[in-house]
Amino acid sequence: MWVLECGDEILLLDCGVMFPEAEMLGVDLVLPDVTYLREQKEKIKAILLTHGHEDHIGAIPHLLADLGFPPIHGTPLTIGMVTGKLKEHRLLDRATLVRFQAGQKFTVGSFTVEPFHVAHSIPDTVGFAITTPAGLVIYLTDWKFDHTPVDGQPTDTTFIAELGRRNPLVLGGDVHTHYVCDLKSDWSDPASKTVATEFCGTSITSQSLPQAQIDAGVRENPNVLLGDGTKRGYVVLDLERDRCTARLRSVDDVKRADTGVSTRASFVVEDGRPGAQRA
Ligand SMILES: [Zn+2]
Repeated sequence: MWVLECGDEILLLDCGVMFPEAEMLGVDLVLPDVTYLREQKEKIKAILLTHGHEDHIGAIPHLLADLGFPPIHGTPLTIGMVTGKLKEHRLLDRATLVRFQAGQKFTVGSFTVEPFHVAHSIPDTVGFAITTPAGLVIYLTDWKFDHTPVDGQPTDTTFIAELGRRNPLVLGGDVHTHYVCDLKSDWSDPASKTVATEFCGTSITSQSLPQAQIDAGVRENPNVLLGDGTKRGYVVLDLERDRCTARLRSVDDVKRADTGVSTRASFVVEDGRPGAQRA
């Protein structure tokens, strides 16, 4: 589950479960901690779903009441799967389900949402381009470049390329390493123009590659400023008009609600000064 918050409006992106690991005996499902959201559920405008896998929709029947029954938007297959779950939990009559097709633009509060098709192992999967008052946010989760997918619908690369020209602010996705990299106009020339900076936080649910493997990759690439897979975590981005501050946060133990969280590193990108600087 991702939270996109702007002003007094919140959009939730996916609402899945994590499956218990070997030592979590007697635990059937691991749900996201929604303490923060429960305290401000009147701000939640909608839940947007990318696809029907359990790690993207599985928490809906368990959390929908806590979240204040916001409308749930998804493609027809995804909404069909959610309908079955809500029926089973006797919540269907209280839920608002909204179907959309990839390519069909819609608005939620002050967000404009453009869903676009991506190939995945389940049909009817989308990514979202979300225009917020602060800028364009792209949310992609499970997807691949597959030119011959079983459902005959490859990832909409034409639309993704067009999004690249619209100066996106955030590209969210599933990554397994804390990673900061300046993107150069010529990848092989560190002295070439910096066109953007990429900040990645690790996935909370999945373990990273071994650190030795990450170190080997980082040594080969002078544009990478940080590559750390030792702990799971996330990135906090503070966006101001003329600067962006990124804090890469590490979680000590993802299975404990009272876990310690610390800042692994901080970087800043300032207007007129391309590239990330350590803060
Ligand atoms: Zn999936």
